Amino acid sequence: MTTLTTSETGGDVRLSGISKTYDNGFTAVRPLDLTVPQGSFFALLGASGCGKTTTLRMIAGLEDPTTGTVHLGDQDVTSLPPYKRPVNTVFQSYALFPHLDIYENVAFGLRRRGIKSVKKQVEEMLDLVQLGEQIRKKPQQLSGGQQQRVAVARALINHPKVLLLDEPLGALDLKLRRQMQLELKRIQTEVGITFVHVTHDQEEAMTMADTVAVMNAGGVEQLGAPTDLYENPGSTFVANFLGTSNFIEAEIAGRTGDDLTLKAGGDKLVLPTSRNSARTTATGDKLLLGVRPEKISLTHADDAGEIPGGRNRITGKISDSSFIGVSTQYVIDSPLCDAFEVYAQNIERDSRLAPGAEVVLHWNPAHTFGLDATQDVD
Ligand code: ATP
Repeated sequence: MTTLTTSETGGDVRLSGISKTYDNGFTAVRPLDLTVPQGSFFALLGASGCGKTTTLRMIAGLEDPTTGTVHLGDQDVTSLPPYKRPVNTVFQSYALFPHLDIYENVAFGLRRRGIKSVKKQVEEMLDLVQLGEQIRKKPQQLSGGQQQRVAVARALINHPKVLLLDEPLGALDLKLRRQMQLELKRIQTEVGITFVHVTHDQEEAMTMADTVAVMNAGGVEQLGAPTDLYENPGSTFVANFLGTSNFIEAEIAGRTGDDLTLKAGGDKLVLPTSRNSARTTATGDKLLLGVRPEKISLTHADDAGEIPGGRNRITGKISDSSFIGVSTQYVIDSPLCDAFEVYAQNIERDSRLAPGAEVVLHWNPAHTFGLDATQDVD
């Protein structure tokens, strides 16, 4: 096993006021501050064109920032060329040398530095990525996933303090991508250095990263642990990018202890203040309430009396249902929401829960999040 010592892992990556406006006047990254904690698996997540790769390239030194600085620990690396930064990059295209075998591809970085005795280190790296058996094969004799592991070994052999990964799994099919997600996570845990991973795939970011920065239009929309982002999105953009959410327009009616009470149509709903990202808590102001579909239970209106107290509840009518294996997905017409989506899981198959049925949707208020009402919900 190749484990780097603490002195080799560097410090946090700190971007301060960093921005990029390209020569054609287009601003790909607006001034942003971002700290990537040392030793973390950090994902830059966002749709195509939001500025993820540009941000990564500024960390690598492949792109000069228009404003701002890049620090690695205490060192200001902003004006250092890429090869002088203790950073290496793995690209989607692998960029392996086709004429060299796997061993020589991995040894390349050491040989270029004039190191003669490379065997032990190359073998350790190939063991780390579990390719010890393949050393004499040429890249084209390996699968896409294996080639990407060679690229990772090659990038790690010079013991960078930060490994940058630019959509490294983008060329792989879904099954291989899932395997490689776990594999990269294992490698990162084993070597202990910082990984900064660019992806547009929310599931990939959530699976692998300790911290995710959701990017939108050249800025960081929200940063946090995957579960925090999913459960406490700060905007409709983040809520929608990381899954499906239902939104309900509501008006603040008052406050009871740590909860806000809200009116939505004729219903009274509760939102814990700790889950309110909106700027207001004033009575009479509007909020947008969100709740993830899988947090909602569905009860036929005839059985509404059996619903335990203390739950948020609204009424509706099933407009559609589809059985999707482990669960059933319902679409509900509710006066509060255009098409309320419910994924009901583990409920006893109730034949009355069919299109046309009147139902009560109910959930634990702790699963409600509050957002500013001024945002688009789409
Ligand atoms: P993708 O996943 O598609 O690569 P991204 O989020 O990584 O997207 P970037 O590659 O950082 O986005 O690009 C951000 C924006 O900057 C895009 O609109 C892109 O067209 C533009 N851009 C990138 N490179 C240049 C360049 N050299 N000159 C002008 N515009 C550029």
